[in-house]
Amino acid sequence: MNFPDTSAESATGAPVCSAKGCRADALWVLAWNNPKLHTPERRKTWLACGEHREHLAAFLGVRGFLKDVVPLAEWESSASGG
Ligand SMILES: [Zn+2]
Repeated sequence: MNFPDTSAESATGAPVCSAKGCRADALWVLAWNNPKLHTPERRKTWLACGEHREHLAAFLGVRGFLKDVVPLAEWESSASGG
């Protein structure tokens, strides 16, 4: 998918997919935790576009790190809600 002009969003730093080399807008947040590095309540996050969500989730899942996958809009609304 190509959007003709996303300058309005990119100017505000629209979130981009965390997959290597991917510049697509992020649609998903993958929350994960590495118990060797992080305390249990800590959450690291990766962003994923629709195309890379499964790939990134699988990468974390096989390591046992993946905690949650939520839509970006939902994640942001819950984060801003405090
Ligand atoms: Zn991507």
